[in-house]
Formats: sequence, structure tokens, C-alpha cells
Amino acid sequence: MAASEAVPYAKTGGLADMVGALAIELTKSGHHVTLLMPCYRGRATGEARQLAMRLSVPVDGKSIDVTVEEENVPVSGALHRLRVLFVRYDPYFDRPGLYQQDHQDYPDNLERFVLFCRAVLEIVRGLIETRAEKVDVLHLHDWQVALCAVYLKTLPYEYKGLDQLKVLLTLHNLGYQGTFPGQEFVKTGLPPSLFSPSGLEFYGAVNCLKGGIIFSDAVSTVSPTYAKEIMTAEYGCGLEGVLASRADGVVGITNGIDVVTWNPETDSYLPAPYTAADLSGKQTCKRALQRELGLPNRDVPLLAVIGRLTFQKGFDLLVEMIPELMYLDIQIVVLGAGDHQLEQQFIASKAGYPHRIGLYLGFDEGLAHRIEAGSDVLIMPSRYEPCGLSQLYSLRYGTVPIVRRTGGLADTVVPFRPSTVKSRCANGFYFIDASPDSLLSVLLLSIHVYKERHTWQSLIHAGMKADLSWDRSAKLYVELYQGLQSRRKES
Ligand code: ADP
Repeated sequence: MAASEAVPYAKTGGLADMVGALAIELTKSGHHVTLLMPCYRGRATGEARQLAMRLSVPVDGKSIDVTVEEENVPVSGALHRLRVLFVRYDPYFDRPGLYQQDHQDYPDNLERFVLFCRAVLEIVRGLIETRAEKVDVLHLHDWQVALCAVYLKTLPYEYKGLDQLKVLLTLHNLGYQGTFPGQEFVKTGLPPSLFSPSGLEFYGAVNCLKGGIIFSDAVSTVSPTYAKEIMTAEYGCGLEGVLASRADGVVGITNGIDVVTWNPETDSYLPAPYTAADLSGKQTCKRALQRELGLPNRDVPLLAVIGRLTFQKGFDLLVEMIPELMYLDIQIVVLGAGDHQLEQQFIASKAGYPHRIGLYLGFDEGLAHRIEAGSDVLIMPSRYEPCGLSQLYSLRYGTVPIVRRTGGLADTVVPFRPSTVKSRCANGFYFIDASPDSLLSVLLLSIHVYKERHTWQSLIHAGMKADLSWDRSAKLYVELYQGLQSRRKES
């Protein structure tokens, strides 16, 4: 499995959660998983790393020497071990950010991930040829590693020993395709003929994700609804035609969550534990959160926002409605970072209502847990959402999600309706139009329902008892891998 981020080592968003948790879950069920990722600055590690390999990697006509460090993570006690291999090349990866600094992408991101992709393939070659290991499937995640598929399938002479390797590419977000100016194509080291509309060219630019979609043996994404949506111009971000031209389509598998890390009963970030049967600890968490973010301890609905502040997430719809919402007796807490204008809007809202709005601009894992636990409602008005994890955490923490009906949000939130309330499966609310008015209507409804304690409790309980673990989804990935394996036997 190759990815640019994975918990607990490096994270900017849900990709890291998914990759780390899936790798552990597969290992737990007895599969031999090796996770490959770059070695970034500030390596959070519990175990000593050992030097595993020295490699020479071709990048932009040069040969770059990199080292590979190995860590073996005990899983299920020490019954199984997940092997993590870190590609270390400090000039590229020993930097303050993963992909950017001060809101600016690193100008050499293409070279950085070309190097990483080439290193991944050299490592796989080393495992097969030097260590005589068997590698069945290479599972790639997102644009940063998509070029692995392109090198493997288009440079057969360079990767002779790997011709049986099957490649699965998982798309976590079509909004990030790894596009670079056309003149940078030469840095990929690929044949110039591949810089064409049937290859990596995308309106004159280089598009890494497009290459991965074309050359992988199978493509999946992180929810069934998003798998359908990305076939349309509205959600395909220009790649809908390329996706639709894949004869085998795109498989949608909804992400699970790491139910050990995200467990209100044992979460060490929380001031008090709680369960569905005894929610008193949740009240303690709420009061502590109010104090932490400078809000008075009042028993009013506490609405939360957690996430990257980008257009995708639709938080602008909420910001616009804050003056109206402030007519209601509610509090709002916001944790996020990103778009400068949106950050400024939240700062201005906080300044206008200092005792009603709590704000932390930045990335803080512990605070994310405390907000999930201490809030009553989580708002995710995403314009699109491949899967979304925050709403899954909120279900597990008894915080009722209000979401826009799109992608994984549509697949995981059972909306409040008379019928779903009656059958006790309603666990949240959704709205359809990406407009501030639609969001406001559903917020008003939720605050009304909040006052009906019995109904609200049933929403909380439906969310908390849902099986959100990786168990089921990991099995679907195994089926996908096995399908690729049988293709290998046929070919
Ligand atoms: P995406 O991957 O698009 O960012 P997801 O909902 O799939 O969105 O995953 C977001 C993950 O990142 C969640 O684990 C969430 O708690 C975390 N997260 C997002 N922003 C922050 C932040 N500012 N501080 C801490 N955690 C954050």
C-alpha cells in the first residue's frame, strides 16, 4: 500500500485516517501488508526504525540516492505486524508541510512525488527480487502515488520483474489531481507520446491522477454514491469521461473508522469517558469544551464545525447564516484551517459574538476529539464529500450530524423523517441544495428536535450503535484484491 500520508505518522485529512486504519485492519485479519510512505519531518514513532534498503532512484534524468527505513508495528497484541517502509530523502521531505507551506504548494511537488513513486517501485522490486517475497497487489491512494501505475504499465523494460503485479488505485478526492504545467512533463521521465489526451495530458497540463486512472488495473473510491457522482460533469472535476471509459467502472467502498482511537469510552483526549447507556460524561465533555474555547457553561445546543476550510466543505454557507443563527439560543465551535478568506470570516464572526462562537484556527487532533465529544450537532455542508470521516466520528460520539446529501454523507447519515424516527434508525439530518437557506432550514428543524429530548436521544443512540468499524469495508477490499489476483491467473 503506498500513500503520501497515514496515521499515526503524517496527516492532513481523511486520507491519512483511511490508509492507516485499513492497513491495520488488513494486518489484523492475517494479511501481510507493507505500507510505503515518505519520511517527513517530525516522525512520531513508538518504535525504533531500522535502515532497510539503500536505493538509487531515477528522477528528471538524474539518479537520486534515497534510504528506506523500516518500522514494524505490532497489531492485535503482537500476533501480527504491519511493516511500514519510509522513503527518506530529506531535501524533498524534511520540510514543515507535507505538500505546502503558508498556503502555497511546494513548487517541486511533481519531482517530490515522482521520486516517491519511483522509490515505491524500486522497493517492490527489491522485496520480490532480493528478499524473495511475494507481492500480489499494489494498492495506491490518490494522485501523489498514481504515477506508480503509469511507470509500471508503460515502462515494461524497466520493470520487467513486476509485470504480474496488479494495481488498485483508490480515489479519495477528485478535487486533487496533481496537475502541473505541461512543460514539467519531462520531469516524469515518461515517453513523450504519453503527453497526449489519451495519456496524462489534461488541457495542456500534466495530470497525475488521470494517468493513474488509465493505467491501474482497478479503480475504487470511498463511497458508493461518490462512485456514481464522479461519472457526471458536476462531480467528475473534468475526469468523468476518463472514469466512464473504464470498462470495469469504479467500485465504491465506504470507509470505516478506527474504532479503537475514536472511542468515547476510552479516548484519552477527553476529560470524561461515556457510553450510549450513560451519557453523563458527554455533559462533562460539553462543559469542558465550552471552557476550553472561552464560552459560558450554558445548556444550549452546541453546534460544531471541524474540517479543512475549503470551498468543497461548504462552510461559507454557514458563515453567511451566522447573523441569522445568532437569533437562536445556541453556541457554535469551529476548528479548521485553510482558505484565508474563510478564516477571516470566522474571525470576524467570533469578534461579533465572542461569547457565542468558539474558534480555533489550526490543526489540533486532541481538540477534534473533544469537539466531537462535547458538541450536540456537527455541521458538514459539503458541496461534495467522497466519504467524510468527521460525520462518522460524530455518530460514534453521540453528536448528531447535519450534512448535505452528497457522496459518503448520503451513504452514512440516515435522515430524520417520521418513518426513520419510528423505526429508530434516524441518526442525523440532511439538506439537498447547497444554499445558505437550505442549511438554515435544516438547522432550525434540528434545534426544534433537540428540545424533544426523547427523540433526540433516539438519534444519538442510533448513531452510537451503528457498526462503523473497518471490518466490513476491509473485507470488500480483500474481495477486490482477490478479483485482481484471479485476473492475474487468467492473463
Ligand atoms: P477530508 O479528508 O476531506 O479533509 P474527512 O472528513 O474525510 O475530510 O476527514 C477529515 C479528518 O481530518 C478528520 O479526522 C478530522 O477530525 C480531521 N481534521 C480536519 N481538520 C482538522 C483540524 N483543523 N484539526 C484537527 N483535525 C482535523
